[in-house]
Amino acid sequence: MVIKVPIAKPIIGEREIENVVEVLESGMVAQGPKVVEFEEKFASWVGAKYGVATNSGTAALHVALLAAGVGLGDEVITSPFTFIASGNAIVYCGATPVFADIDLNTYNIDPLTIEDLITDKTKAILPVQLFGQSADMDEIREIARRYDLMVIEDAAQAHGATYKDEKVGSMGDMACFSFYPTKNMMTSEGGMITTNDESLADRARMFRDHGSDVKYIHDEIGYNFRMTDIEAAIGLAQLDRIDEFNDKRIENAEYLSSALKDVDGVVVPYVSDDRKHVYHQYTIRVDKGSRDDWVEVLTDRGIGTGVHYPIPLYDQPVYKKLGFKGYSPLAERAADTVISLPVHPSLTREDLDLIVDAVREASDSID
Ligand SMILES: *Cc1c(COP(=O)(O)O)cnc(C)c1O
Repeated sequence: MVIKVPIAKPIIGEREIENVVEVLESGMVAQGPKVVEFEEKFASWVGAKYGVATNSGTAALHVALLAAGVGLGDEVITSPFTFIASGNAIVYCGATPVFADIDLNTYNIDPLTIEDLITDKTKAILPVQLFGQSADMDEIREIARRYDLMVIEDAAQAHGATYKDEKVGSMGDMACFSFYPTKNMMTSEGGMITTNDESLADRARMFRDHGSDVKYIHDEIGYNFRMTDIEAAIGLAQLDRIDEFNDKRIENAEYLSSALKDVDGVVVPYVSDDRKHVYHQYTIRVDKGSRDDWVEVLTDRGIGTGVHYPIPLYDQPVYKKLGFKGYSPLAERAADTVISLPVHPSLTREDLDLIVDAVREASDSID
């Protein structure tokens, strides 16, 4: 089957290419001045004081947790309905991921399910700003304040999203972004921690670079998680267009939702009215037939789809093997019924209509 409308497609323009060529010609290709420039500009765009670039979003999460002091035997509360990197970063630190449940409207962690999970080992809460919409940050920060916990946002899918008057990336103690090619903006591979806390930024920089502050003096076991100037050069070009990319995603999503909201068996994304959703994914839920039947019709019609995510993290084979536990009924319901449709900024009106027609056809043929 030929996919006519892919689920994701990065936009790579002349500027990205020129910027990369400039770095290559400079001969300085590792972490250097472009990374510093990208850190400063990205942090200022999200409204945070400091940016610490890394070679992936996963590395950003890992380094942020280390900087927060998360280590062996600690617990970190997160959502089971996310990409495994959110949980793995916790595991890399020797800590245990503890799984709350989600709000089935927004697919984000439900603050009401957090407090019961807090023990004397809990160090941090790691909300995931899933699909491009912020979690309930006031409630989460209030719990964290009462129990003296760190809040680390997994903002890998939410560049530019807002919550009340705040931007994702500036609301917790730290936030972690990904610049993987499918994300709202990209650097090929890459990530960034943003924070307003200078000492956390300093610790993150140290863990990113072999636990070293002063060259060849190592205070901690750190890693080589540095971003290259080639990647930062791509990021700088993308940063100039991220608002435009997000506006296009939002416009596409609104078009899809107005056409699909009355289609039988389809639940379109819910947007809380105090937030800006930037639609890393446009994810619907189907409430008749089996999800596989819907995906089959869409695939036959040439529409790329994704299932984000089919298994709650605690049911992943490796997490079961490691003995991590959880039971989050709403996350399970979502895992069984979600389908992501294309929403990326390169879609044409014709693509959007193909998506709408295919979903309508699936609805008509499934009962
Ligand atoms: C993409 C993603 C990550 C990991 O980012 P990489 O850059 O791929 O390492 C982490 N968490 C979530 C929710 C993601 O979507």
